Amino acid sequence: MTFEETGLRPEILKALGEIGFESPTPIQEKTIPHLLNTDKDLIALAQTGTGKTAAFGLPVLHLSDTEFNSTQAIVLCPTRELCLQIYRDLDSFAKYMKGLDVVAVYGGDSIDKQIKALRRGGHIVVGTPGRVNDLIRRKRLDLSSVRTLVLDEADEMLNMGFKDELDSILSAMPEERQTLLFSATMPKEISRIAKNYMDTPDEIAVGKKNEGADTVTHEYYMVNARDKYPALKRLVDINPNVYGIVFCRTRAETKEIANKLVHDGYNADALHGDLSQAQREQVMNKFRIKHLQLLVATDVAARGLDVDNLTHVINFNLPDDPEAYVHRSGRTGRAGKKGISLAIIHTRETGRIRQIERMMSKKFDHKQVPNGKEVCSKQLFNLIDKIENIEVNEEQIEQFMPDIYKKLEWLSREELIKHFVSAEFNRFLTYYEDAPDLNVTSRGRDNDRGRGRDGRSRDRDRGRDRDDRGRGRDRGGDFDRDDRKSNNYSRFFINIGSKDEFSPTNLIGLINDQPSVSQVGVGKIEILKKFSFFEVDKQYEKDIIDAFQGVNYNGIDVSVEPSNPKPSARDRGGDRGGYSGGGRRRSSGGGYSGGGDRGGRRRRSSNSKY
Ligand code: AMP
Repeated sequence: MTFEETGLRPEILKALGEIGFESPTPIQEKTIPHLLNTDKDLIALAQTGTGKTAAFGLPVLHLSDTEFNSTQAIVLCPTRELCLQIYRDLDSFAKYMKGLDVVAVYGGDSIDKQIKALRRGGHIVVGTPGRVNDLIRRKRLDLSSVRTLVLDEADEMLNMGFKDELDSILSAMPEERQTLLFSATMPKEISRIAKNYMDTPDEIAVGKKNEGADTVTHEYYMVNARDKYPALKRLVDINPNVYGIVFCRTRAETKEIANKLVHDGYNADALHGDLSQAQREQVMNKFRIKHLQLLVATDVAARGLDVDNLTHVINFNLPDDPEAYVHRSGRTGRAGKKGISLAIIHTRETGRIRQIERMMSKKFDHKQVPNGKEVCSKQLFNLIDKIENIEVNEEQIEQFMPDIYKKLEWLSREELIKHFVSAEFNRFLTYYEDAPDLNVTSRGRDNDRGRGRDGRSRDRDRGRDRDDRGRGRDRGGDFDRDDRKSNNYSRFFINIGSKDEFSPTNLIGLINDQPSVSQVGVGKIEILKKFSFFEVDKQYEKDIIDAFQGVNYNGIDVSVEPSNPKPSARDRGGDRGGYSGGGRRRSSGGGYSGGGDRGGRRRRSSNSKY
């Protein structure tokens, strides 16, 4: 089918030709004729990236009447970013439609400006539910003549808590209207909206319900929980041209992973709820124009970020809700391009992969985290490729060449190449020298490859340690496994845990904030649900107890007590049972075995929240 065959107005076809849309996408093929030829309600199951904006936008524009000065169509969407994106798209499709006025109304911007814009026209209004409701209440937005209502990303609007706002807007609209509901997933609440506010809607889907795009490959990598971050780095390193979003579950984790990536020299930044709107936009813009390769984000913060051409979606942690995985993975493989959605999981998470597989009717590939040699070879070839294809500025460089030739005269061609490659690459080689296998082969059991006979990890990520030292930087809360013996450390119990939003970074921040102990070396850290354990230099045992007298964390009176040394691996029963007080505790069996900082150098928290 061509756009001409749909019967859209010539002005619209002209604009589409200029934009470069040659033929309709599958969702457009289904929705455009439906909207142009019937007034039946419609539910369309479609992900972002399928061309759904044009799918509803083109017919809405086609049906609008510029002679008639009132709001005829309203598009509701969950976020300011999406609102602006839809507005821009509609505006470009309507480039040759004289007198047609599209207005965007959303929270976080001057309402007076938006009221003025509505007064000037507003044949089509695109808005977020909160602001639209506000404008209706103030009698500045009149929906009595609306003929078409579009609910875009309806599931996201509900996820974001707009249920009451939607009910209120929908009940204020004329009954005689056509309603189109676009959603990537089909939770119960959407069915309720359909039942209450739509009239026997037709249902169409691009692919099956809850099924991601065919252009996306799903992969998972299984490692021990403590190896997730090193695994992330390897997966990024094996994909030198990665352009993707790293999804984390909490704000704290988002900050922590972004900090570590930046610290380790990656081109990354974080997007989370603690940023101001201006900071948020700055980060998103940097990412959009590819000045950032990796954006570390929570699901909530990434809403409304609309970027095509992502090569990867990385699930550093799987979302609690499998439907959120569908949303995440739908951010790659857009507009016909291929994409990879990968998950780094630990041994007890295969069940969650199966759950997602069932829901999406898609299979994940279980892939192996690359070893050091594979990463190095990929990076080397990438470098060679760059050298081969670099543009040489003959004119400028010529003046320096005679001296350079002279200086390098003594090297053969082979040696010369080795020198150039080494200059760029030594850091990498050192980093991955003796890098252990991070893959876990069976459920709940560590892979013993890469370990010495005593079960201790071989100097894990030794190269990185050297590298970090070389750069003279603190490791900033690096929670990789550290099998250093704890003889010089004393172990403490602290009465706060992950349920209090307490992370290793917070613990280090808390120690740093107590002047009398801010310089002590910190050893292993274990964060459990209700409490945690940590080690500090033995000589500061008493100072730590004193320092924490009267300290408060997020409203909780902190209590720190000495604890018995952690039992050896042999003694551990994998029991995650609780603390039984007075230093008598059962094994943790899991949790962060943090520290990572051999020699107990002090680490500084860059994102401590107090
Ligand atoms: P959307 O799902 O509306 O966010 O669209 C995803 C991307 O596909 C956007 O970059 C659109 O500009 C592009 N797109 C939408 N429809 C077409 C089409 N018919 N041909 C080519 N690209 C399209």
